[in-house]
Amino acid sequence: MAEDFALNNPSPPASLRGVRFPDCANSSKKRSRNRRFSEAELNYFYALLDEPLTPYDCGRLCAPKNGGEPFCCSVDNAVPMLYREEFRYLSRRTELWRRWKPKTATDKKMKKEDETRILIFCECKGVKHCERHNRSIGCRTFPLEPYFNEKGEFVGLIFMKEFCNKCPLIHRLDDIQQSVIDKHYRFWQIMLALKPDELELYKSTSRGWRISAKKRGVPLPVLYPSKNARAGTD
Ligand code: SF4
Ligand code: SF4
Repeated sequence: MAEDFALNNPSPPASLRGVRFPDCANSSKKRSRNRRFSEAELNYFYALLDEPLTPYDCGRLCAPKNGGEPFCCSVDNAVPMLYREEFRYLSRRTELWRRWKPKTATDKKMKKEDETRILIFCECKGVKHCERHNRSIGCRTFPLEPYFNEKGEFVGLIFMKEFCNKCPLIHRLDDIQQSVIDKHYRFWQIMLALKPDELELYKSTSRGWRISAKKRGVPLPVLYPSKNARAGTD
């Protein structure tokens, strides 16, 4: 029911109402390639992405093989990327985050090559100091990212390829809650409409997924939003 979807979702601020993907991204009107999110918009994303992926604490699945800590909360395994304005916002309300300082030559190269005018590498103080309400968007969306089909349509979410052998949820796709998939999908609809610079990257990683899944004869781990989420209701 459309009403159920709306009831379980936080209301977006006025500035985000009616934002649709791909309408905005493909609009013939000249749009900013990187619309900076306001504090109200970031707070909306945090509310939208607050629900845990699974009905249980999935950290218990990977922590035993990672020194007792969730795999994705260790900067040695995954360095979170924050939107530049998100880092500034979080820095005003907590001391949890700082810019990532790479130590090895490989990491320095990664920082140089992968940071963009939109996203920067950051690190938190570690899982023992985690402040749930100050988790970044990247913490909340991990390990999923947008999936584009062969026609270039944004149809669902897929595992970040580089972590698919490391996050045990790849073998428990059914445990990922549909309400979470719907909310993440809504987040990416808005994000890609307002920051379309990342579009080609996700189309390319989706293509890479299809090629490797075909070669290995395995199904694509795509999570599809419900019909109501695809239509959007706000
Ligand atoms: S998302 Fe994956 S890697 Fe992160 S805590 Fe859950 S199971 Fe572990
Ligand atoms: S802020 Fe919390 S959820 Fe995010 S990486 Fe740090 S410990 Fe993990």
